[in-house]
Amino acid sequence: MVYLKSESEIEKMREAAQLVSRTLAEVAKELKPGVQTGKLDRIAEEFIVKNNGRPAFKGYGSRSNPFPATLCISVNDEVVHGIPGTRVLNEGDIVSVDCGVEKDGFFGDHAFTFIAGDTDEETKQLLRVTLRSLYKGIDQAVHGNKVGDISHAVQSYCEKFDYGVVRDLVGHGIGRSMHEDPSIPNFGKPGRGPRLRTGMGLAIEPMITMGDWRVKTEKDGWTIKTADGSMSAHYEHDVIVREGEAEILSTFDYIAEITKNEILETY
Ligand code: MG
Ligand code: MG
Repeated sequence: MVYLKSESEIEKMREAAQLVSRTLAEVAKELKPGVQTGKLDRIAEEFIVKNNGRPAFKGYGSRSNPFPATLCISVNDEVVHGIPGTRVLNEGDIVSVDCGVEKDGFFGDHAFTFIAGDTDEETKQLLRVTLRSLYKGIDQAVHGNKVGDISHAVQSYCEKFDYGVVRDLVGHGIGRSMHEDPSIPNFGKPGRGPRLRTGMGLAIEPMITMGDWRVKTEKDGWTIKTADGSMSAHYEHDVIVREGEAEILSTFDYIAEITKNEILETY
């Protein structure tokens, strides 16, 4: 079931998405070599609660193994759903920080991959290409297109660089629930899949690897890693499908304001 959002609902979605954006910037301030990922999680949780939101990932999933944290922090070959804890970031780690918030009945869900300190040019290219592919997907999120137009734009761009496009995890609709229809794969054929209509809320999120696309789940039941151990990047925005041009509800501008981010300056 696809829900089209009214303008007043979109305003609430924007509030939720913007709270996630500001939370990612708070995390960015402290994300450096030597920091424990659990500390970043506490910063995010406090900030969200202080701003009248609810961390939407915490408790998500099955009753027997609910996700235990506010952020998903996925380092290097971890693709998504990494659990923050005692791990200490090292110089050159690439760190996907994914955050979900519920505010006033609506959800925001977006993600940025940071570098702890500095890393090599090959890894920076993975981040730049993944970020660019996100915007190439968003360019297709317009009324009258199909989901496959988004999927194909992401896949065809990333595969030019011989990168792997993760198949097992996909983007999704978003609004009154964190995950709504339709699914937004990062691979597919143009002109296929559900038709996009004005007022659809979408979370578009390329998950791209430097090697093969295959992934495996760790023993914790959450952390997804590349099967071949290659590095992986992940960026996510919340958008509204419109005529002519999608509207992006989330923003990386707060990250750019708070820290000097080479990827945002050079992608
Ligand atoms: Mg998502
Ligand atoms: Mg997310």
